[in-house]
Amino acid sequence: MAKRQPTWSRRLIALLERGLPPALLEDHEMRRRALLIEGTAWLVVLACALTVPVIAATTTGLGRVASLAADVGTLLLTLVGPWLLRRRGTPAAAGHWITGCVFVGTVYAVSTTGAFASPYWILLAIVPFLAAQMAGRRAGHLWGAICLVGVCALFFAAHFTNVLPQFHDPDRYATTTAIYGAMTILAVHGLSHLADLAKDEAIARAEAAAAQLEHADLEIERARILAQQAVAANSAKSAFMATMSHELRTPLNAVIGYAEMLVEDADAQGLPDMRDDLVKIVGASQHLLGLIDDVLDLSRVEATKLDLQREQFAPEDVAREVTEALQPLARTRGNVLEVRAPADPLRAMLDRGRLRQVLVNLVGNALKFTARGRVTVHVRGEEVGPARFVVFAVEDTGIGIREGDHRRIFEPFTQVDSSPRRRYEGTGLGLALCKHLVEMMGGSIGVRSEFGRGSVFTVRLPAEPPARAEPVKPAAAC
Ligand code: ADP
Repeated sequence: MAKRQPTWSRRLIALLERGLPPALLEDHEMRRRALLIEGTAWLVVLACALTVPVIAATTTGLGRVASLAADVGTLLLTLVGPWLLRRRGTPAAAGHWITGCVFVGTVYAVSTTGAFASPYWILLAIVPFLAAQMAGRRAGHLWGAICLVGVCALFFAAHFTNVLPQFHDPDRYATTTAIYGAMTILAVHGLSHLADLAKDEAIARAEAAAAQLEHADLEIERARILAQQAVAANSAKSAFMATMSHELRTPLNAVIGYAEMLVEDADAQGLPDMRDDLVKIVGASQHLLGLIDDVLDLSRVEATKLDLQREQFAPEDVAREVTEALQPLARTRGNVLEVRAPADPLRAMLDRGRLRQVLVNLVGNALKFTARGRVTVHVRGEEVGPARFVVFAVEDTGIGIREGDHRRIFEPFTQVDSSPRRRYEGTGLGLALCKHLVEMMGGSIGVRSEFGRGSVFTVRLPAEPPARAEPVKPAAAC
């Protein structure tokens, strides 16, 4: 576990970080470099300020003016470093800049105080270290090479020329050496301490992130187990519903069969009252059988036990069959029901029975939710590259569906109005079953609707069986 930092260190870091761009502080390495740039800049500024009285005491005439100008110039130029850091938002330029200030200031000091006899020349040794810490490894190599060239140039100038001036009083070097020695020790120690603090903080953050990751792993594992349990529960439910539906159909078929026989008997014996009641029994039983068929189909599809029987046919014929069968219902609701298909016949390899089931559901719904209006079944072919599709759009001018309910209605047992006082009968199974069947055939179903104005349900099916039974892109309502 990383050590907890003392309060003063945290205060110092907070002070140095003031005004730095947040993006710079998010990355551990960038933040460490930024702190070192800030720390170095303020140490150089402090060193330059402390040097002013030393220059005043150890120089005279031109030497004093030149040295004071160089010192104050270095101080001011160093202050550009923190500004560059904030302006650029990355440490590279500021790191190079401050390294350059230290280098130039040191070369000036060395060349005016006796070259290799000068107490300052050893400062050149820390320049590549500063560059590497503030601007990266490559900057360290670059400034190492520059310092070596500088040392060679100084050596050449000191031994083979007379160009180097001697501004400072060599007898007073002791004071200067002491000040610079102390500043160097302080600088190296201070900077390594800052780097250490930044590293500790990075470790603490990494440990916190690792702990969070471990926690997230546990949550994922828990969610995986819950998902497995849900899948197991769902297939158990589907299996139960399939069995129950099958068990219910057998006696119900018997009820319908016997009721129909009794209708014939009542006809033969001339009992019209009894016949009407028996016809109602047959109608209600057939309605119930239809609902059970839907439940059975849905559970079979969910348990992936339903097989498709594909055959080649003209899909618009199925649309016509369905509209013909539902004309009586259309008339009772005062609706006009029609098919619009291209003159040239289309061809498709689909499960005719399942397609019919889907269209019966969609057209049945359109008629149920429309009164004295118009229901149109549009059929058209579509080609996307080499793939051919058949598109059915069931359009009505009925009550419409609010935007928020568009997704919901495709879930099983979901109705927009499910209150006990609702106006429209139904189980909320039809669209869920349509969605499953359409997706089994490799297609997709979608709805576009405006509340109070009507709806368009669009089914898009591949005309040939897809290589893999997976849904194509969602249907765009026509
Ligand atoms: P239901 O047996 O209730 O009709 P569906 O799954 O077929 O079950 O439909 C779910 C719900 O979607 C319906 O209860 C109705 O609220 C809404 N709905 C479906 N088709 C239409 C339509 N053409 N116009 C308006 N609402 C519709």
